Amino acid sequence: MTVGILALQGAFAEHGQMLDKLNTAHFEIRQKKDLDQKFDALILPGGESTVMGKLLWELDLYKVLREKICGGIPVFGTCAGLILLAGGVEENQSCLGTMDIQVKRNAYGRQLGSFYAEEEFAGLGTIPMTFIRAPYIVSASPEVEILAKVGGKIVAARQGKQLVTAFHPELNADTGVHRFFLDMVEKQRLPSNHPMIKL
Ligand code: GLN
Repeated sequence: MTVGILALQGAFAEHGQMLDKLNTAHFEIRQKKDLDQKFDALILPGGESTVMGKLLWELDLYKVLREKICGGIPVFGTCAGLILLAGGVEENQSCLGTMDIQVKRNAYGRQLGSFYAEEEFAGLGTIPMTFIRAPYIVSASPEVEILAKVGGKIVAARQGKQLVTAFHPELNADTGVHRFFLDMVEKQRLPSNHPMIKL
């Protein structure tokens, strides 16, 4: 399995380090021609969603990435990556908008801008969660599975092949959420004898 990591800005290198720990091949997506490589899953890292959204348009990556996500490539968005996938963001932004969630950006205010918590994540038990000027999910459609909450706010969710966390799992040693994502990708790959695969 190979994972493409959007590497325009923000905390992309740390996702690569996590994937190294999990012996999973990966490469960075910096420009359109990087998408010529074959990949099975995509990671949208944390950073600044307004800047990333703008760069997606400037580098002509927006449409092709959106098509890939709508076409079913599994995607994992952390923090700004979550915002990019959200169908609804308060301020109008150049988001991909592929997931039925509404988010509030910089939702914890200035003083609580960055914090650490340990909370339950569905199926993983209690895990470390580092929040940096984080968003949270204000509401989600019934198709969205809620995976974690902190202080009553939704901070992790999944809809089909899209996984999002408001926190940065790549900044802690725990590889649980990345394993969760890779399991999700594996389960959704077609078996080699599947009738849809023509030899
Ligand atoms: N506050 C950032 C935004 O709105 C997200 C912060 C992050 O990714 N750590 O895009």
